[in-house]
Amino acid sequence: MKGKLYLVPTPIGNLEDITLRAIRTLKEADIVLAEDTRTTGNLLRHLGLDKKMFAHHQHNEHKAIEHLAERMENNETMALVSDAGTPGISDPGFLLARACINRGVEVESLPGPTAFVPALVCSGLPCDRFTFEGFLPPKKGRQTRLKELAGESRTMVFYESPHRLQKTLVQMMECFGGERKASVARELTKMHEEHIRKDLKELVEHFKTHPPKGEMVMVVEGRR
Ligand code: SAM
Repeated sequence: MKGKLYLVPTPIGNLEDITLRAIRTLKEADIVLAEDTRTTGNLLRHLGLDKKMFAHHQHNEHKAIEHLAERMENNETMALVSDAGTPGISDPGFLLARACINRGVEVESLPGPTAFVPALVCSGLPCDRFTFEGFLPPKKGRQTRLKELAGESRTMVFYESPHRLQKTLVQMMECFGGERKASVARELTKMHEEHIRKDLKELVEHFKTHPPKGEMVMVVEGRR
């Protein structure tokens, strides 16, 4: 008899965004694997759940996966959550999902919150075809990646931290041209949610007088 791995999305801000099925899955799992047990502990408390948790983050995931997958092979059911959003999307998840699949353990992902979908569909840019780029490499390989993307015709979606946003906008302006349309989605699902839709050169000017704060997703028009 085999157990199962559930990938359970959690809210990216607004706690009302957890699904009924996510709550039930967290309740029924033998173990909750959490990127940060304090963050997930707060969520579980909010949901009135008292669960056994294991830390599963980028620093231990390589070591832990085979052991965890083996336990699932031996009938344990585990629910993997990240700090926010969907596990595996710029967060730990892929390695464990792959280890389970390789051992014939069933993997199920619940649909739910993730930051790039609301950023994309509210950007006003085409969302019939797009490429999700996640975080650009912080240093090495960054310029190469941007150059490779200069010819991309699909809308591009990036995750970015506020302290690097302005640098990224300037580099994109140099690689893609200042006329490219883009949207910066800030603080999605939170009280101060904002979508700033301008071309790249206008965004650079905007953030000179409005220092970037909070969590953000960048959506950039593809080459016309
Ligand atoms: N797993 C998450 C998901 O499904 O979207 C992404 C985790 S990644 C470590 C964190 C990045 O996601 C942030 O730096 C930001 O780019 C984006 N993000 C997460 N929550 C957000 C929010 N409420 N508003 C805007 N961007 C957000």
